[in-house]
Amino acid sequence: MDFLKQTLSVETFSPSSGETATLRWTCPAQGIIAFEPLAFLDSSQSKSVVISAGIHGNETAPIEIVSELVQDFLADKRSLNVRLLVILGNLEAMRTGDRYLEVDMNRLFSGKHANYQACEETRRAQFIEQQVIEFFEQQPSSQRVHFDLHTARKPSFHVRFGLLPYVESGKYQPEMIDWLRCVGLEALVINHAPAATFSYFSSQTCGAQSCTLELGKALPFGENDLSQFVGIKEGLISLTTGTACPDNSAAEMPVYKVSQELTKLTEAFELNFAESVQNFTAFDKGSLLATDGEKEYRVKQDQEWLIFPNSSVRPGLRAGLMLTQTALNDWVA
Ligand SMILES: [Zn+2]
Repeated sequence: MDFLKQTLSVETFSPSSGETATLRWTCPAQGIIAFEPLAFLDSSQSKSVVISAGIHGNETAPIEIVSELVQDFLADKRSLNVRLLVILGNLEAMRTGDRYLEVDMNRLFSGKHANYQACEETRRAQFIEQQVIEFFEQQPSSQRVHFDLHTARKPSFHVRFGLLPYVESGKYQPEMIDWLRCVGLEALVINHAPAATFSYFSSQTCGAQSCTLELGKALPFGENDLSQFVGIKEGLISLTTGTACPDNSAAEMPVYKVSQELTKLTEAFELNFAESVQNFTAFDKGSLLATDGEKEYRVKQDQEWLIFPNSSVRPGLRAGLMLTQTALNDWVA
């Protein structure tokens, strides 16, 4: 079976399953495959790992990396040491090379799909939620991990970075932080509030250690320079085979937290800088960031860094996030 080819195929899908010498696999729906080692895993020690990519359809590099990993397990080339669920998200947008068709899927989780008119993407988000819940519940006592792989849409001062979903405790597991450093992330961003993202859903609803990874810029299928993505590839192999993670860490991994959100309230919303600025561009205290009719957004701290500026979102949504730096130690359990 060729997982990526089958995922992109428009022919009628039928569920399939099988066994290699060391593992059992089940493909219950297009773009979703679960693996379980045949050898008995002590459930108190086992790990249940979800790896997802393609929640945005045109973010091809992680889709290719994850698909390679799937093929390796199907061919018994690697020794699986965890329960593993691999999810490729937005199938139709993957086929057309778009970020999304009707609605950005990473705004649809934690039930937010119900706020939109039903379409392929709302149905897919809901289906993925069910698959993840079931996967974790099948082995309730095992440790839960989820990494959602993306590529950034614009240039960035930190090429690879992680977005940690908001957790009430304000603490993240040291094991996950170490892994994020090992795969070569150049920065971490800590979210300040619940969100409709896949990683917030798996963290909040399923109790998983989760992170959204932004892994540099992607090109169309087959044109990616996968050498840029060695760190994440090696990290995923170590995570799923239970081997030590090779150290691909960057010189530094500064940590940021959200200081304010630029919310587009009305169609009058305007950014006060070129939308093409890089992620993690710094602004000094007092700088005017955006206006929305009478309302002004200004930098409040000595320095704030900008990520994800996008003034074309619909009113009510986030048009950018401002960050301040923070110490990692304050956030590690
Ligand atoms: Zn993305």
